[in-house]
Amino acid sequence: MLKFKQMADVRTRFAPSPTGSMHIGNLRTAFYAYALAKHNNGKFILRIEDTDKKREAEGGVEEIKSLLNIFALSWDEFYIQSERLGIYKKAAEKLVSEGHAFYCQCEGKNAKKEGFSTNLRDECRDKGLTSGAIKLKVPDNEVVSFHDFVLKEDVTWHTPVVFDATLLKSDGYPTYHLAVVVDDNDMKISHVLRGHDWLPSTPIHLLVYRFLGFKVPEIGHLTDILDPEGGKLSKRKGSSSVKKLLSEGYLPEAIFNFVILAGWAPKDNQEFFDVKSFVEKFDIKGFQKSNPIFNQEKLDWFNGHYIRNKSESDLVSMIYDFYKGKYDKDLLRSKLPLFRDRIKKFSEIESFAGPLVNPSVHPEPLKVTTNYLNNISNATISQVENIKDWTQGNVNQALGTAQLQSGSAVGDFYMDMRGTIFGNTGTPPVNDSIYELGKDWTIVQLRKGQEKHSK
Ligand code: GLU
Repeated sequence: MLKFKQMADVRTRFAPSPTGSMHIGNLRTAFYAYALAKHNNGKFILRIEDTDKKREAEGGVEEIKSLLNIFALSWDEFYIQSERLGIYKKAAEKLVSEGHAFYCQCEGKNAKKEGFSTNLRDECRDKGLTSGAIKLKVPDNEVVSFHDFVLKEDVTWHTPVVFDATLLKSDGYPTYHLAVVVDDNDMKISHVLRGHDWLPSTPIHLLVYRFLGFKVPEIGHLTDILDPEGGKLSKRKGSSSVKKLLSEGYLPEAIFNFVILAGWAPKDNQEFFDVKSFVEKFDIKGFQKSNPIFNQEKLDWFNGHYIRNKSESDLVSMIYDFYKGKYDKDLLRSKLPLFRDRIKKFSEIESFAGPLVNPSVHPEPLKVTTNYLNNISNATISQVENIKDWTQGNVNQALGTAQLQSGSAVGDFYMDMRGTIFGNTGTPPVNDSIYELGKDWTIVQLRKGQEKHSK
């Protein structure tokens, strides 16, 4: 079992590549790495792994920083790999001079894919070239292994299955394999936490550690977050992009709470976590071994919870910002009580409470019951027209009378009322909404319904 060294020695890093559109799996790695460091009074390092220039997205670094800020994760140190090229070159040349790496001039080829050598050995390894890319000279019959502190098991490879990986490309940029090892050593990383995808790279790293004489840190590979239909959560379905979730109106608090519990669980049944309480509770024993499933309903449930917990003024500003100033703040404030407890995300407001936030819109009235024309009748419209003093009490009374006149059951009458006012069956409380929408608006909308469904 892993024993922590001195508390202050714990140093973790989040090492994203700036390829744009951060996946929630990456964000989860950042949360866990942050908590592991901070729980032990250690340091959390942000390192941008930008050595693959082809995959780099414009603004990628800024996006990473701004997302971490949104989730209130602050880093103690910051590095960019492309600013450290000389360090990697020196390490690669050292490996060549000590016989653990070699120059190769068939760089574009991938030993594994193209199979130019049956035993994954590169054809240039014994040519004694003095320029080109630098590749790792994998020893022939050795065993490499490490103890994975997330999976809680030893993982072992025999070197015949490890290919002669490129360490330094001929353009002077290192590959991930070299840069990650050099940096984790240089930056005194005590615990490496990364996605499961990277496990096949680990034997290469272990050899590089050995040949460079570096101490291997604790390494842990996190589970994959799965799609409910099976398979890895895919970018195509959209729900995996952090930016997309935020743009749909999921609150950072809800995303955080949801994501940390996808693959980790506390000893007790605590369900709600913010960054501070997660750091306090964090324990590597809580990592789960089975792949968690992305449960949209759970995320919605957390979001509804955090929406309800916001103060009125925070919520008004957040909705105002979410809709980029489209709706007046005073209007939002007055209508908020009608929908705040019923929405799961901000993007639902327009479809759920449409006319309340935008009275210039008259939705398409929906006919729900077969008694529609008895419910939305001339008598009902007259009841509304005859309200002299527009108070909530008088609105309730007029609608109550209209329901009795309609001959319909209470449920049926109000179903058609909802359908007519909102064009929907799931709506905010309809009497209160009618009161808020006002007499003129309501009459226009009732007439619209009557006309539409009398045809
Ligand atoms: N740059 C890698 C990534 O984007 C980092 C992998 C690691 O943490 O070692 O996930």
